[in-house]
Amino acid sequence: MADSEGPRSLPDSETPRFGTLCVHGGEARFKPCHSITDPVFFTATYTFENTAAVLEYVEKKLPRDEYGRYSNPTERVLEQKLAALEGGESAVTFTTGMAAVTCYLMSKVQSGDEIILFDECYHRSREFCKKVLGKFGVVTHQIPACDYEKMEAAINSRTKLLISESPTNPHLSVVDLERFAALGKKYGVETMIDATLATPYNVRPLEYGVDCVLHSCTKYLGGHNDLLAGAVIGRAEVIEPVRKLRGVMGVNLTSQTAYLLLRGLKTFELRMERHNQNGLALAQFLEQHPRVQKVYYPGLPSHRDYEIARRTMRGYGGLVTFLVRDADAEATARIVDAVRIPHIGPSLGGAESLIEQPIVMSYHDFTMDQRRAIGILDNMIRVACGLEDTADLIADFAQALDH
Ligand SMILES: *Cc1c(COP(=O)(O)O)cnc(C)c1O
Repeated sequence: MADSEGPRSLPDSETPRFGTLCVHGGEARFKPCHSITDPVFFTATYTFENTAAVLEYVEKKLPRDEYGRYSNPTERVLEQKLAALEGGESAVTFTTGMAAVTCYLMSKVQSGDEIILFDECYHRSREFCKKVLGKFGVVTHQIPACDYEKMEAAINSRTKLLISESPTNPHLSVVDLERFAALGKKYGVETMIDATLATPYNVRPLEYGVDCVLHSCTKYLGGHNDLLAGAVIGRAEVIEPVRKLRGVMGVNLTSQTAYLLLRGLKTFELRMERHNQNGLALAQFLEQHPRVQKVYYPGLPSHRDYEIARRTMRGYGGLVTFLVRDADAEATARIVDAVRIPHIGPSLGGAESLIEQPIVMSYHDFTMDQRRAIGILDNMIRVACGLEDTADLIADFAQALDH
């Protein structure tokens, strides 16, 4: 595809700012048929003029496509844009965030290796490490979130990966990325941050020396509650083994989904500004409300990790978790049901606000003791602020809490 190798829209000598990268980053200036958008390709395979062309492709590793399970042109533009936004050398995308998690982990570990992760993490990631990788002789150590001393103490000669989310879900703990990356460097262990809740708008972990960033693009990067996708980004030597395994596992995006993501990313900066504004305003409103016992939001000075968040994050995102004062599970559910703007549903990062009671939604198959152990309480509500008007959202929560 000569077109996708055409001149980049942004000269290397200038450093475009984030909003410019959202619109133009990773894209060729001139595209097939003079289209301003990148086309969607409905094709399973790609053809060669003659045998010499095949040999040239193989020998020179030309950036063209061969077969749909390895790559497609729209996906490649998306990967270039994500790499530009994250400030990384290379990106690889997947059908879902979990496909990114599982493919990344499987490309990095083998029987006898050990993984250390902070325990506040996406429950399916923890499940994959413990139940699936465990079957193949990989040992996972769970460390309380942000306990760097305990993490360091757990490192040994078999340790292959240090992993965390930041911010975590639903407690919104924020990792000191400098300290986390330094641990990896000190012991020669690769570090990975699932930065789905932060997004490259709010923090760019690679700048702090973290080796690899992972995203569920289903959330803010997609941004419209209409697609599933995942990505990992980092130096080429970190990413290329993951891309190789993706080709074997067959979990790359379709051209249509890559297009939807590219389209959504054009407005990414604008959307994040509103998500951040709504999240902070709702957190501040809830914190002063007499029916609210506690708010988890890293942009509030009351949050344990406020200082780290303030130092490292441009904004704190749209996710707000809170505890209802003197409420059991039923009284908490009544507040969820009284809210009119957010839909009840899992996920976050889309235009539509979403609300859930974690004990009923994501953790219903956990026992009470298991939930308590990971801090999922009966009176907890998680709100994923969307793009609605800030005052409307706050008025809605005011009426629901007074209900
Ligand atoms: C949603 C999510 C995932 C999983 O992503 P999917 O796209 O749903 O597969 C992983 N990590 C975090 C932090 C998430 O929020």
